[in-house]
Amino acid sequence: METLRTLPGDDVRQIMWRFADRYDIQMALQSARSLARTLVARLVAEGARNTHEWTDHKAQLLEAFDTSGLTALFMEPHQGGFIEGPKNLALALVAFELSWVDAGAATCSLATNLALAPIHERGTQEQRDYYMSNCVPPQPGEDRKIFRGAFALTEPLPYVGVETNTLVGKVRVAEWEDGKEPMLQVDKRGRFITGMDFANFATCAVDTDDPRIKTSCIVIVEDTDEGLFDRGAPTLKMVHQLSSTRDPVFNLKVPASRIVGGYTVKDGVIVPNYTHSEIIGAVFHRTRVPVALMSTAKLLSAVEPVIRYQRQRYRGGDAVAGTPKYDLGIQQKPDAVLRLADIWATGEAGASLGFETARLFDQLDPTEKAKDKIMAERGVVGPKSQLSALRKVEKLAIEYLALESMPEDKRDAARFQELGEDTLVRYVLLESLANILCPACKLWNTGHGATVMRESLALMGGYGITEDCPGFLFHKWADTQLEATYEGPEAVQRRQLSITMTNEVFLAKLRIWIDQFTLLAQEKPETGAGIVAKAMELWLWTLEFLHRAKDPSGARLYHNRRQNVTFPMADALCWIMASRCQVADLLELAEKGPENPIVAEGLEGTLGFLSDLSMVQAARAAGECARICATMVNGFGPQDEAELTAFDKLRSQLDRSLSGAALAKDRAGYALTQVMIPEALDYPM
Ligand SMILES: Cc1cc2nc3c(=O)[nH]c(=O)nc-3n(C[C@H](O)[C@H](O)[C@H](O)COP(=O)(O)OP(=O)(O)OC[C@H]3O[C@@H](n4cnc5c(N)ncnc54)[C@H](O)[C@@H]3O)c2cc1C
Repeated sequence: METLRTLPGDDVRQIMWRFADRYDIQMALQSARSLARTLVARLVAEGARNTHEWTDHKAQLLEAFDTSGLTALFMEPHQGGFIEGPKNLALALVAFELSWVDAGAATCSLATNLALAPIHERGTQEQRDYYMSNCVPPQPGEDRKIFRGAFALTEPLPYVGVETNTLVGKVRVAEWEDGKEPMLQVDKRGRFITGMDFANFATCAVDTDDPRIKTSCIVIVEDTDEGLFDRGAPTLKMVHQLSSTRDPVFNLKVPASRIVGGYTVKDGVIVPNYTHSEIIGAVFHRTRVPVALMSTAKLLSAVEPVIRYQRQRYRGGDAVAGTPKYDLGIQQKPDAVLRLADIWATGEAGASLGFETARLFDQLDPTEKAKDKIMAERGVVGPKSQLSALRKVEKLAIEYLALESMPEDKRDAARFQELGEDTLVRYVLLESLANILCPACKLWNTGHGATVMRESLALMGGYGITEDCPGFLFHKWADTQLEATYEGPEAVQRRQLSITMTNEVFLAKLRIWIDQFTLLAQEKPETGAGIVAKAMELWLWTLEFLHRAKDPSGARLYHNRRQNVTFPMADALCWIMASRCQVADLLELAEKGPENPIVAEGLEGTLGFLSDLSMVQAARAAGECARICATMVNGFGPQDEAELTAFDKLRSQLDRSLSGAALAKDRAGYALTQVMIPEALDYPM
């Protein structure tokens, strides 16, 4: 039987992650790769990470980002960029590519984009064009300095990090002369602010401290504004040292036109068009996805150095060329390759989940703009009114899903078309998925990814925790913890999921996936689709049970404040979502792979191997899901016997679906002993 010949190359990835026809993205990715494997790798190898200070050594990165085009990646062509339209997938792929070598460098390249994100998502057209155009490197003949930004949400007091609703930073009216634009006094102390060494503007979240300003908002401050723009003390961090982080202090007078998204004046009161939390919601919705993929890049980047190390271990001494000990080293024993298969499988699932989320946002972005336009035309203003208007659309979205899942000849084609063309329906469908996939990839790829990343060091033995360890694996392991922390640590993602995962539109979609994967399992059992279907079914049953069941004290089980229920269920869902996306990418490769002559060569082996990984991952995901669901159903008992019997039946079906999963792992392990790897790692130690 054909097995994996070489590690999957770009052609395979372009199909799986759906950018085979996007040459603009492929070019950006190549720029990122060559920069990562030259300058970034050199900086790490030369010890640039040994200091938390921002040095001239590290500052070479900024110029390299500018000259390679990465700085302009986020911008529209009319602002000096080169990719038209949504760029979530492009940004995610570039972050992935840089993090393949060093995630701090990736963060450094994204810091200004994070500062721009509030302006991009909710800024006025003028704000957007002004700041985005100025963040593009000057063209030949242009005489201006490039803007770089920082995003200041978190604060030192009172420990505002996760609770983004609490803000100590304040905004007041400084001067307001009749008929003139009001001047604001912005007072904000930031904690752990990325890019602060070189930022000349910052987007700061502040609360109102003045009856003449209605709500909180985000304000843009610049280093030339009147007052204090103190970059503050550097953060003594031991991760992501190739980005700059400080605790800045701002006390600045700025015109009210710097309120992101603008404002109106009602009865002598400044009313920001968006509160800070409305803007942050939109920002983190998107920016969390590249962060999730930063951790995933590390797992996949570990595969090659680990194989190389394992095969070389035990060479020399009495090992004679041609013997298994000489050729395979540690890989002559199955445990090493089985553990590596787990790392690789987790990386595949994380990539599938992350890139699917990025692509989803590329669809959502224009739909959201179209939705906002419709809402404005209908006079539906403000997030609360929008929310209640969209609630009514949920029914239509569920109707659309029901029609979509019917055989073509049985459904009402006219109604299906009508709903399919309805922008609001489309928006509700996409948003209900984004609300799951975004927190899921941020939580699972980084949190679980960090745990699995540890294994790659373990497979290097003592070497893994020395400076000589190839692939900078130790740094990568430590860095994943920051990725699990910033832009909202795990609790924040679980809290979001605990609310969004009960959305009826999402649950309708989940039911459809269960049916589809159940069918797929008959056609392609090797993908693990049957296991994923059973896991989804068990999760859904348990969620419904938790809504009807009570504990012995009579208290409801599924409740906002009961994080011993909502959080584990959120975790279980992440496992399933990752596996579902992994199976989907596999199907894409099976369908499109034969059309590409480079991929077609050796496709059988690649597909067989990736299917085995998918099955391995599905089995692990189902196991986690079953464990969590069993704890939920039994752990708050005693429960009604009929309920327990129904659960046991589903769980035993899930266990049965694991048939062949261990064989798949055996095969994956064997493939790892056969796969060819390049002579040397393509970036230095
Ligand atoms: C290197 C670095 C760069 C950063 N860059 C930026 C930046 O550019 N801009 C910016 O604004 N911020 C930045 N941050 C801040 C980062 O976003 C915060 O560190 C993060 O949001 C977590 O907040 P915290 O550190 O205060 O953790 P804490 O709030 O102290 O949380 C500690 C733990 O408690 C849990 N927890 C907290 N509250 C709850 C709750 N209500 N329910 C359940 N569990 C809870 C958390 O999940 C976490 O596990 C950066 C941080 C670092 C380290």
